[in-house]
Amino acid sequence: MDSLTSQRAGLESGEFSSVELVEATLSRAEAEGRTLGAVVGLRGESALSEAAASDSRLRAGEARSPLEGTPFLLKDNMVMQGEPTTCASKILEPFISPYEGAMAEKLRAAGAIVIGRTNMDEFAMGSSTENSIFGPSHNPWDPTRTCGGSSGGAAAVVAAGVTGYALGSDTGGSIRQPASFCGVVGMKPTYGRVSRFGLVAFASSLDQIGPMTRTARECAWVLEAISGHDERDSTSIPEPAPRLESALDGDVSGLRIGLPKEYFVEGGTDPEVLARVHAGIKELESAGAKIVEVSLPHTEYVVATYYLVATAEASSNLARYDGARYGRRAEGVQDLDEMYRRSRSEGFGDEVKRRILLGTYVLSAGYFDAYYRKAQQVRTLVRNDFQKAFDTCDLIAGPTYPETAFGLGAKVDDPVSMYLGDIFTVSANLAGLPAISIPCGFAEGRPVGLQLLGPALGEAGLLRAADAFQRRTDFHEKRPVLDGISERIQELEKAR
Ligand code: GLN
Repeated sequence: MDSLTSQRAGLESGEFSSVELVEATLSRAEAEGRTLGAVVGLRGESALSEAAASDSRLRAGEARSPLEGTPFLLKDNMVMQGEPTTCASKILEPFISPYEGAMAEKLRAAGAIVIGRTNMDEFAMGSSTENSIFGPSHNPWDPTRTCGGSSGGAAAVVAAGVTGYALGSDTGGSIRQPASFCGVVGMKPTYGRVSRFGLVAFASSLDQIGPMTRTARECAWVLEAISGHDERDSTSIPEPAPRLESALDGDVSGLRIGLPKEYFVEGGTDPEVLARVHAGIKELESAGAKIVEVSLPHTEYVVATYYLVATAEASSNLARYDGARYGRRAEGVQDLDEMYRRSRSEGFGDEVKRRILLGTYVLSAGYFDAYYRKAQQVRTLVRNDFQKAFDTCDLIAGPTYPETAFGLGAKVDDPVSMYLGDIFTVSANLAGLPAISIPCGFAEGRPVGLQLLGPALGEAGLLRAADAFQRRTDFHEKRPVLDGISERIQELEKAR
């Protein structure tokens, strides 16, 4: 019962109750989840009493949604009333949310059970879940490697079968890249599709919440439950939640898949990864899709553009952590200025400080035109590239990330090499487009992700293609071997 599909079937047939499922899940979350460094907080008793209420609805035939009675985890940057939200940061360590965020609200209204929170890079800044006050998350396929980031904990719990689904947030790849590293499905919806109310802001024009699951169908269930207009988020699209499951008919005949020539150049991407991605595309072709070449000529500028826009917005968003209003305040300060300075110096980790500095710099008088304004102009060009490409294709395919999961510690002291890996994921955020990563094979035993990108509001088309792919392949059915993993992780931690 480690997938949402099997959990839903078991609950509907009465094979087990939600209380039994939540109990079993809590103990796995406590064991595997904590060992992997993927779970950072659990709510046991209240989750169990919600499960009991869910059982009464299930027995009465009053299930509120396909997610009724199923447990899941929030990423630790999504607030829930009365629960901690830390963003894996010292500065928010003492923070308890006074209000309910849209994700907790919507999924609880759908009958789903929040059982706790997953690990992440501090304020979602990173690609490895190593920038965290809780320590790193380990990849369930190989604990010496990262599970990607920043939603690494969410990807790891789904891959390890702790929960059937989890929520991630994606500002520049943070759902899709960990999904690819851990061999699960991760989708970043169209900007504005899912409410950001109660999501701690990193870069507001890029941030978007999305599901992490094993299959495209499960992804459709979760996305239906979390999307829809929310007037508390001014960028929320005034559209009702889309009906997605009915689109999953397995039919991709005539679908035009664009391959951007810039995504398949020699040298940049691990050849093994490219081979698996090509094989995945072939699979869709043999199912009837047509392959066309497209061009995204500004690809070489997207990483620089993203790191200017994202850091500028982060520097402004993170100004609110001043020691006065939220979370942690430095002790023994003499005056206001010292309170700001020390609260922030002590509260933020190195990567967050680096980004605040960079973002403040690019917004400052004299540099604004050269960096921030220029980046906004390039962003428009990137958006135009996609518009043009979608004149000749229905969706775009390529790798999610240039390599498989890298080793823990391999890049954490080399920010530029960490940033460069985001080449294939940040464009969807800059252009506001939906994109999904699906498992398409293994390289040296590690999962590889195939990324599909679609036009705005094109989630149904992406999910249809992803589902068609999964009907023909079994990569999503493979499971990491977890026996003995806790001993291995203990040894690794000792050696650190
Ligand atoms: N890796 C990217 C970064 O560090 C993306 C992070 C994200 O999507 N939250 O900014």
